[in-house]
Amino acid sequence: MAEFPNPEQSACPPAEPTVACFWLRVALDVPLAGLFDYRASQPVAPGTRVIVPFGRRRLVGVVVETPDVPEFDAEQVREIDQVLDDTPPFQAGWIRMARFAAQYYQRPLGEVMLPALPAGLRKVTSYQGKRSAGGPVQRIDKRAAPRAEPVQAGEVPELNDEQQAAVQVIEALQGYQAVLLHGVTGSGKTEVYLRVAQAALDKGGQVLFMVPEINLTPQLEQSLRTRLVVPGVADSLAVLHSGLADGERLRAWLRAQRGQARILLGTRLSIFAPMPDLGLIIVDEEHDASYKQQEGLRYSARDLAVWCAHDRDIPIVLGSATPSLESWAHAERGNYLKLSLMRRARHVELPQVRLVDTRRLAMQHGFSPQLVEAIGQRLAQGEQSLVFLNRRGYAPVLNCASCGWVSQCPRCTAYTVLHRATGARRNYLQCHHCGYQTRVPTSCPDCGDQDLRPMGRGTQRVEEYLAQLFPQARITRIDADSTRLKGSAQALFDQVHAGKVDILVGTQMVAKGHDFANLGLVGVLNADAMLFAQDFRAPERLFAQLMQVAGRAGRHARGGEVIIQTDYPEQPVYQAVVRHDYAGFATYGLAERKAVGLPPYAFQALLTAEARELAIALEFLARARALPGDSPSSYPMVSTITLYDPVPLRVVRVANIERAQLLVESIHRPLLQAFLTQWAAMLPGLASQHRVRWQLEVDPLEI
Ligand code: ADP
Ligand code: ZN
Ligand code: ZN
Repeated sequence: MAEFPNPEQSACPPAEPTVACFWLRVALDVPLAGLFDYRASQPVAPGTRVIVPFGRRRLVGVVVETPDVPEFDAEQVREIDQVLDDTPPFQAGWIRMARFAAQYYQRPLGEVMLPALPAGLRKVTSYQGKRSAGGPVQRIDKRAAPRAEPVQAGEVPELNDEQQAAVQVIEALQGYQAVLLHGVTGSGKTEVYLRVAQAALDKGGQVLFMVPEINLTPQLEQSLRTRLVVPGVADSLAVLHSGLADGERLRAWLRAQRGQARILLGTRLSIFAPMPDLGLIIVDEEHDASYKQQEGLRYSARDLAVWCAHDRDIPIVLGSATPSLESWAHAERGNYLKLSLMRRARHVELPQVRLVDTRRLAMQHGFSPQLVEAIGQRLAQGEQSLVFLNRRGYAPVLNCASCGWVSQCPRCTAYTVLHRATGARRNYLQCHHCGYQTRVPTSCPDCGDQDLRPMGRGTQRVEEYLAQLFPQARITRIDADSTRLKGSAQALFDQVHAGKVDILVGTQMVAKGHDFANLGLVGVLNADAMLFAQDFRAPERLFAQLMQVAGRAGRHARGGEVIIQTDYPEQPVYQAVVRHDYAGFATYGLAERKAVGLPPYAFQALLTAEARELAIALEFLARARALPGDSPSSYPMVSTITLYDPVPLRVVRVANIERAQLLVESIHRPLLQAFLTQWAAMLPGLASQHRVRWQLEVDPLEI
């Protein structure tokens, strides 16, 4: 073997003895566990992207390790096609986080890394016919000149005592510390974020600022752009979310990776953007379910952000008016530092919350006389009202008055929702689970009767009724239907901010973040629908949603009011909302969780199976559940794990696929992890016998 140029790379194939040889271990986006070994004729640094042959295909992969010897027979190891050097290699911190996410969420590393990249960086087609240079970055580079945004200095308020104290504490932090910034709605959390972000920038760090949803970013983006300054950098902000075109997303990503963007404002996916100088992470509305990715790699961007801050040894600020009970429990245990903003920043009181007991009332189209009167008053005073209803469409179902027929989706165990004509469209029925659409029948398909009636109400019907009640009012509806076109949500919100709207009807889209100056009244229509959902987190979600939407009222002027219509005014959730008592609600909620051993006092994973027939899905889950018993020696930790009985999902069939799930639980997180790793390795084999699709979700939000 003496003829080898470098004795350390001893396992090179003898066929080409004089060629230097370097082993690369590469992550590829293929549904196979593990990494793949290749060889290269030049050294390639970890974090570099390469194009490799895989079967008969060519794929983009990321070099993760450079081992001394390949894992399997060196002669079988194929050579890479191409090193992609149009971006710098991802740095070690980025690789570490991807590795952690892969291990924690039980996914192959390649299925974590590659989907996290902008499309242009992970597609072989970006590089076809350009063996040496080329690729998406070269082409982009020309256009990468920063857009010159008009920068007006925003109004800079003087911090109040609570804000001042919070800013001082956060600025003084060195190294890792998670801060839970609990601030009531309108307490000026944004101002705190701006100050601590500026301090982090001044220290030379990059700032990752995460928000739950795209429609929250424009207002904030404006503040960040005008208020944060980095000397010598004209355009220090990049924005990243899934609504961007591929090119825009790539540009934002590259600017972050190269350190040109000093502030990255983004939704959950921005946690995977490489930021070499990361100095501070801010997670606004940290309780928000949008931080959870619900397909593919089912990660929590909030949780990964905390891990990342710890790994990089930097502070992280988690802000909310209604923190998740998980984060609150961390703060109570002293893991997180809790800072509170208990007063509104603009010297206005929190709005008064009134529960209207609807059991003994004559309701008109879902409206109590109290709510109608209150809206009328605000209208007379020239103030805006918000009517909140978390159900879009005209009516949740169409019903035959003579035989009881109801409109149902042929592909799902669900009703089809009646939508009223808009623009050129006629009325239609739509399934909100699978998207199936059909025309509205003129007579009952079962009995032929023509007396078909909409049952219940959605935002469209509420809008229609309000227009009858208040013909002089300017009414706008904001929901997923009215904002389907790109940019239309922003246009509608702009109208509200500009005072061109008297009554706003909306779903949860309007509940979050917005700082409406002239909104005096909030009316909540169907809160009870969420009260008795099966999920144990339903009360927490309801409480957060009510507090959020209530927090839109009276932010700039006194006298804000919230009316919640309910059949159950005595429920603790509503009572806590009336008192604006998050802490009381959290104490009560955590005590309940503790008593029955639910998160955060236990850790969960959910195995979901999908098949043509429910029985097949259930059978697969039953077999999966029995695996530890079949080979006990592989599962030494199993006595600490609870595997519940497989159960059908509440909506069993969606798009002709039937679904069931199996809950796994333990009070010991590392043991649960060890169990899942062992268990998940057996599932692909089992699934192929049963012809099911399956997915394993760690820390599921909905059960
Ligand atoms: P939060 O995000 O906590 O709900 P915001 O950050 O939107 O609250 O602030 C609420 C309002 O108070 C905004 O209009 C903001 O400009 C204003 N504000 C924030 N801090 C101050 C302050 N120290 N003095 C006066 N107004 C402030
Ligand atoms: Zn009928
Ligand atoms: Zn359907």
